[in-house]
Order: sequence, then structure tokens, then C-alpha cells
Amino acid sequence: MLLPYECFADACTQSFSLCVCRKVIICKLIKAKKLYSYQLKKIIIITIGLFAFQLTQAQDSTQFSSEDLKLYSLLFQQTAAEYRALCYQAFNTARTHLDEMLKQNPQKKNLAIITDLDETILDNSEIFAQKIITGKEISYADWQRWLNKPNLPTVPGGVEFLQYAGSKGVHIFYISNRDVRGVPVTLTILQKLRLPDADTSNMLFMSDDFSKESRRQTVMKNYDVVMLLGDNLDDFMQVFESRPINERFAATDSLKNEWGKKFIVLPNAVYGEWENALFDYEDVDSLSLEQKIEKLKAVLKDTRDK
Ligand SMILES: [Mg+2]
Repeated sequence: MLLPYECFADACTQSFSLCVCRKVIICKLIKAKKLYSYQLKKIIIITIGLFAFQLTQAQDSTQFSSEDLKLYSLLFQQTAAEYRALCYQAFNTARTHLDEMLKQNPQKKNLAIITDLDETILDNSEIFAQKIITGKEISYADWQRWLNKPNLPTVPGGVEFLQYAGSKGVHIFYISNRDVRGVPVTLTILQKLRLPDADTSNMLFMSDDFSKESRRQTVMKNYDVVMLLGDNLDDFMQVFESRPINERFAATDSLKNEWGKKFIVLPNAVYGEWENALFDYEDVDSLSLEQKIEKLKAVLKDTRDK
């Protein structure tokens, strides 16, 4: 196969006498070589450009991690005024119900409220956001730094509601699935927030049992629990624990008269048992991003019959 300047030289030798043509041929060859050299450079530059573009595209697509699936949920928690409104709505409802109950039972003693902490009173969205931004797992040191941060964000309306309930003589118990070793640092946080009954005797954190049921029962032995607050249905009753989606729905429906009364639910679109139910309580850490997306799409309901 002839290269471009070789074709040009071949045509010239057939049209002109040898002596005249030699000079012309040399000139044309030089020009043709320059032209070829220029075109070759152009081709090389374009090829390198295309390769670099494809490489960037490939890198971009592989930069996404499973944590990025939580991006919209976190933004909802951090930026949607609707999220704040839902929180205020929950605590306003709680206050209305508490007032009604106290009015109807003025003589009742040993009344208590059980509250969860994370995403019920304390807002941890920033530490989850760090995971997305840095692409790194949250280490124990990161978590400790976070807990010691001054002015930790709180769920709108939560602190005020607990202070109100405390002022009415209702005892507050903090049942959290934070590790029991986290009691001292969390106690400092609760005290800084001036939350009522902020004392280790009222903080029932997780030791070996993920279920909160036995801790709730401990409180109920001596107190009349009039209200429970949480962002996860496991914060309310054992019936929700490790159940598939349809059973969680059925249990929620069977308790429909309790929501907004004895049970006050806070929105959490970032994590919770609802998320574990999506993956049938499988160990999601072992799944790739593609596998997760495939499983999530399989759960999604669309207009087709299934
Ligand atoms: Mg929680």
C-alpha cells in the first residue's frame, strides 16, 4: 500500500521529462512529506485525544461506589426543607398527644418516653457525607472525632420536645444501638444539649443484643411508657425485626392507630431496617455496585405485571 506522498511522486514521473521532473519531484516530495508529516501528527494527536477521552470516561464510570447510592437521600436530609417540616410535624404531633394524655391522666406517675438517638434526636448526615466525598470507610478515629465535634447537628424539634416532656415530669430513657462503650462520649453530648435525664442509668446502649426489646422491657418494668420515638421501626416493636418488606407493611398497617400517638416516627431515607429489607438482610458489603443496583431494580414496582 502506497503512502500519500509515494502516490504523488509516482504520478509525476509519468508526466514530465526526467531532468525537469526530477527537480519538481524533489520539491513535491518535500512538500508531500511535510503534508504527510502534518497529517500524521494530526492523526496521532486526535488518536491520543480520543484515547484520553475514553480513559477519562472509563475512570468516571468506575469512580462511583455503593455509597454514592445514598447521595440523594443525604441531600434530602441536609437540604430539603420538606425534611425539616416532617421532623417538626413529628415532634408537634408528639407534643399534642403528650398534652392530651397528661390532661386525661393527671394523677399518673412514673410516666416515661423511650427515644432512639441517631436520626431521631442527633443528625449524623455529615459523617455519612464524608464517606461519599472521600470514598473512604469511616474509621473509629473519624467517628470519635465526629462525636467530639462541638455543636453537633440535631434533628429539628427533637431537643425542644424532650425538654418539654421532661418539664412535665415525664422520664426520658435513651435506648440506642450505639455500642455500650460509646455511653461516656454520648452522655457528654446529651448533657451539652441540656437533655432531660441525661445520665448513664437512663442510657441503654447495645452490648451484645441488636434487638432493643429486652431493653424496652427493662424500662417497662418500672415505668408506664407513654411514647416511643425513632427513625427505624425496630425502635418501636420486635415484630418489625428482620422481616421482609411485605411483613413490615402488614405489621405497620395492623398498628395504624398507634402512629402519631404512642409511636412517633422520624424520616430517615439514608439507612435503616427498610434498607436491609431491600436486600433480604443479606450482607450488602459483599455485593458490587452493579449487583446492588440489579437487586434494587428487581424490588422496584413499575407498571408491568409481575
Ligand atoms: Mg436511629
